[in-house]
Amino acid sequence: MAYRRPIVAGNWKLNGSRQSSRALAVAIVDGLAGIDLGPARLGGESPPLEVLLCPPFVYLAELADLLAVSQLRLGAQDVAAEDVGAFTGEVAAAMLREVGCRYVITGHSERRALFGDTDEKVAGKVLAALRAGLSPILCVGETRSERDAGHTLTVVRRQLDVVLAALDSGRVSASERRLISVAYEPVWAIGTGLSPTPAEAQAVHADIRATVGRRDATMAFDLRVLYGGSVKASNAKDLFAMQDIDGGLIGGAALLAGEFVSICKAAAS
Ligand code: PEP
Repeated sequence: MAYRRPIVAGNWKLNGSRQSSRALAVAIVDGLAGIDLGPARLGGESPPLEVLLCPPFVYLAELADLLAVSQLRLGAQDVAAEDVGAFTGEVAAAMLREVGCRYVITGHSERRALFGDTDEKVAGKVLAALRAGLSPILCVGETRSERDAGHTLTVVRRQLDVVLAALDSGRVSASERRLISVAYEPVWAIGTGLSPTPAEAQAVHADIRATVGRRDATMAFDLRVLYGGSVKASNAKDLFAMQDIDGGLIGGAALLAGEFVSICKAAAS
């Protein structure tokens, strides 16, 4: 993990209130006070870690103000594939950027399974994020039955390939591609307490990098591939020690300040 600066992202999903969201963010900022989370430095050693919080849409603007005095960053949990127009309920990438987001999660398995986000729709969301200068975190991962059938790599490659083809046909530049991260999130591990062994996760992460590398070697080298699915303080260090695991996307444990801070510290060490 040493070459690429890791990211730890907290996905708060549909949880909390205005007050509890503020309190959680403050507790995380306080818990990380001793760690340099500042921007990457050219020509010098960069800080060890990037940390971002992804609250529900309605709390973004308020948390942006709160986080402005910290080094933590803000992300959204989803984004529209369209930039503007008659799309009731949607939130555009430029709006997210305007309220202070730097990151956005795209293709989370809950969006894919419950809200009809197809591979093509997810590719559209990645492109929309890039048009607004946001860093998309592209989630990929197999279901339990796909894993049991031995189809993990086939599924993950398909999910990646649709997005990679869209980057090519959209003539997305090398500098824009550097904004993208991938999160490998086996669906069967999300919120279940189950997770692959670090070696099993590493094998998929290495395949993700190789899949990207077949189209774009430079992008693959720099690409940060996060792991998500029942990461806790107790398993984070072993997962983050793997060569191709460049941090984590954290769900349940991101709602507990102490757990989340310990996970961040595991990624920073
Ligand atoms: C997630 O939903 O992105 C996730 C990783 O959840 P959890 O950490 O709760 O498994």
